[in-house]
Amino acid sequence: MTVKSFSFKIDTNKNFEIIDITSKINELIDMGEGIVSIFSKHSTSAIVVNENESGLLNDFEFMLDNLVSDKFSYQHDRIDNNARSHLKSFLLSSSECLPIKNGNLDLGTWQSVFFIELDGPRHGRTVTLTMVGE
Ligand code: ZN
Repeated sequence: MTVKSFSFKIDTNKNFEIIDITSKINELIDMGEGIVSIFSKHSTSAIVVNENESGLLNDFEFMLDNLVSDKFSYQHDRIDNNARSHLKSFLLSSSECLPIKNGNLDLGTWQSVFFIELDGPRHGRTVTLTMVGE
C-alpha cells in the first residue's frame, strides 16, 4: 500500500463559480487502484460530485442563494463581509473521498467532480489530493 499527495492551485474569476476538476484529478492520479481524498483548503469553497449540465448548475446556484438569504444580516459580516459564502460552504463539504480504478476516478456516467468557488474571484485556491492504494 502506498500513500501519495499532490496539491494544485485554481484561480477563480467570479464570486460564484463552478469548476469541473475531473480531468485535472485524473491527470494527477498515479496509482491503479485505491481511494483519493480531494480536499479544498478554504472555508468559502467546496468540493462536490454531480452532473455537469448547465441548467442543473444554474439551479444549484439558485438553490444556494435561496437557502442562504441576503434578506438577513449575519454576525460574521462585521468581520469581513462574507458570511453568506461561509454559510453556503457549511451546507456543502470541503472534501470528497472517491474510488480509483484502472488509474482514474471510478465515477458514474453522469458524475463529475467540481470545485465550488463561493467567495471569488480569488487567486491560488489550493486543492489537495491524498491517494491511498497501489
Ligand atoms: Zn470570512
